[in-house]
Amino acid sequence: MHKQNSLVADLQGKRALVTGSTSGIGLAVARALHGAGAEVVLNGFGEEAEIARLCEELDAVHNGANLMDPAAIEAMMEEVGPIDILVNNAGMQHVAPVEDFPVEKWDAIVALNLSAVFHTTRLAVPAMKEAGWGRIINTASAHSKQASPFKSAYVSTKHAIDGFTKTIALELAQCGVTANCISPGYVWTPLVEGQIPDTMQARSMTREEVMNDVLLAKQPTKKFVQPEEVGAMAVFLCSDAASNVTGANWSIDGGWTAE
Ligand code: NAD
Repeated sequence: MHKQNSLVADLQGKRALVTGSTSGIGLAVARALHGAGAEVVLNGFGEEAEIARLCEELDAVHNGANLMDPAAIEAMMEEVGPIDILVNNAGMQHVAPVEDFPVEKWDAIVALNLSAVFHTTRLAVPAMKEAGWGRIINTASAHSKQASPFKSAYVSTKHAIDGFTKTIALELAQCGVTANCISPGYVWTPLVEGQIPDTMQARSMTREEVMNDVLLAKQPTKKFVQPEEVGAMAVFLCSDAASNVTGANWSIDGGWTAE
């Protein structure tokens, strides 16, 4: 029997947990899932008043668990209850040569970028299997496919996320549950924008030179990815039309990894 898949995701009745969704990409993904009808649970740090404002905007609840702590993740997953959509997005970066890389930074990046994804996933999967439907989306990075110097922990954990995602995609392939990575290049977030003035001064460059020759040096389109574009890709991966997309690592990087 032929079933017509809709390209427009209707996520009414679905509950989504988006980690690291009080800012940047995670917030855009939460907004996009909410826009498609999902009930959203926010996670991440931030000012109490701003988080309250986001909860009101998205008709969402917030859980502020520190995802570097497995016990806090267990408590969060217990409090949140069964979810249909898990977006593992929280992540951090540190830039240093390997011989100077602070050991505590390495451990923190592994805990947040990699181990937290294992913990939320292992705790979310049983309810998804029972429901016979689920979507797991991991925010990886162009650095899950290519390396850059001085980012050993970030590149290692993002490569590992690709492997983890492929593994669980195979395990869940016949359960109605898909698992995919989204791999952005440079995304236009307040953090990136905030680096521009200092870099202009440090390198005696114009704003355009900093954007094109430094920040977008590896991005052939010379355009930043917009957080909303990542949100739209997440919504598509949640749609019925994407039910056969699993174990994939989708680039949204202006051609960076095509080189
Ligand atoms: P961001 O710093 O704007 O947001 C990070 C979010 O994670 C925030 O909500 C923060 O409160 C939360 N967070 C940080 N530490 C946490 C912890 N210990 N426990 C719980 N929450 C925590 O970052 P972003 O740029 O939006 O990045 C989000 C994801 O996208 C990361 O995994 C990052 O590696 C990836 N990414 C970003 C870019 C980019 O250009 N910005 C490119 C590729 C991939």
